[in-house]
Amino acid sequence: MPMYDVIIIGGGPAGLTAGLYNARARLNVLLLERLAPGGQVLTTDSVENYPGFPDGISGFELMDRMKTQAEKFGLKIQSEDVTGLELSPKRKAVLTGGGTLETKAIILCCGATWKRLGIEGEDHLMGKGVSFCATCDGPFYRNQEVAVIGGGDTAVEEAIFLTRFVSKVHLVHRRDKLRATKVLQERAMSHEKIEFIWDSVPVKILGEKGVEGIELKNVKTQSVFRKNVQGVFVFIGTLPNTDIVKGLIRLDENGFVVTDDNMQTSVRGVFAAGDIRSKLFRQISTAVGEGATASYAVEKYLENFAG
Ligand SMILES: Cc1cc2nc3c(=O)[nH]c(=O)nc-3n(C[C@H](O)[C@H](O)[C@H](O)COP(=O)(O)OP(=O)(O)OC[C@H]3O[C@@H](n4cnc5c(N)ncnc54)[C@H](O)[C@@H]3O)c2cc1C
Repeated sequence: MPMYDVIIIGGGPAGLTAGLYNARARLNVLLLERLAPGGQVLTTDSVENYPGFPDGISGFELMDRMKTQAEKFGLKIQSEDVTGLELSPKRKAVLTGGGTLETKAIILCCGATWKRLGIEGEDHLMGKGVSFCATCDGPFYRNQEVAVIGGGDTAVEEAIFLTRFVSKVHLVHRRDKLRATKVLQERAMSHEKIEFIWDSVPVKILGEKGVEGIELKNVKTQSVFRKNVQGVFVFIGTLPNTDIVKGLIRLDENGFVVTDDNMQTSVRGVFAAGDIRSKLFRQISTAVGEGATASYAVEKYLENFAG
C-alpha cells in the first residue's frame, strides 16, 4: 500500500489551496472529496469579495479555476467519502468506502454545513435570493426588502449588517424574544430599518427565477401570511463536518476543530483549514489563506518526520 506524504480531506477552497501548494512542492499528495470538488462556493451564483475579480465571478467558475490550477501542478483528486481515521504518531490511516489509505500527515478541510430550513423553494432559490452569508450577498440587495430567519447572535448581527444596504429587514423568529446577547438585541430593536416578526416560522419561499416573497406561519395562531421580500437570509446555525474526528482531536464547545496559528490540531501531523476550524470569520479568502498555511506547516512537519 502506498504511503502518501499528505492526504487532504475536502475539496473546497481550503483543500484545493493546500493541494496546490503541496503538489507544487512535489509532495506525494492526494485530495479526497465526496462530492464534486468546489465545496460550498458551488452553491453561489456570484462571488464579489474574493480579490482579483473586480467584476465578480461565478462560484462555479472560481472553483473550477482553483481545481484546474491545482491539477496543473499534479494534485491527484479522488472521489471518496472519508468515513473514519486511525491516528498514531508514525502512521495515519484514512478509511473510505474504497479501502484504507496510509499517510504521514492529514489536512482536514471538510468545511461546514449551514443548517437549512428544509422548506419548499429553499433549494431551488439557493444563490438566487436565498443566502447564508450577509457579508457575501448583502450588497446585492441595495434598497430592497429582505427577511432574516433566526434569533441568535449571528442572525441579529447579520440583520444589523444588512441595514447598510437594504431598505428593510424583516427579522423572523419562532419565539417571542431573541436568544441574542442583550446589547445586540437593543441595537436591533432600536433600528429603524429592522422590523420583527415574532412567533413565526417560514413555510415556503416564493419565486421562480429569484425570491419574490416568503410565506410565514404564526405558531400561536397557526395563521399563514406572506411578506414580499427579494432576499431570504437563513441564520439558524452552522454544523462543522467533523463526524470523522469526534473523539480523536480537540473540538471547541460548538464542535469546530481547535488549531494553533499554524493550523496544527491537538494531534501531531493532523492539520485543519477553512470552515471546519474554530474561528471568527468563515469566507473563501480565509479558507484559502489557512489552506496555504496548513500546506507549509505540513512541509515543515515532514522535514522532521522520522518514518
Ligand atoms: C450560499 C453560500 C454563498 C457563499 N458566498 C460566499 C462569498 O460570496 N464569498 C465568500 O468569501 N464566502 C462565501 N461563502 C462561504 C464560503 O463558501 C466558505 O467559507 C468556504 O467555502 C469554506 O471553504 P472550505 O474549503 O473550508 O469548506 P467547504 O467549501 O465547505 O468545502 C468542504 C468540502 O469537504 C467535503 N467533505 C466534507 N466531509 C468530507 C468527507 N468525510 N469525505 C470527503 N469529503 C468531505 C465537502 O463535500 C466539501 O466539498 C458562501 C457560502 C454559502 C453556503
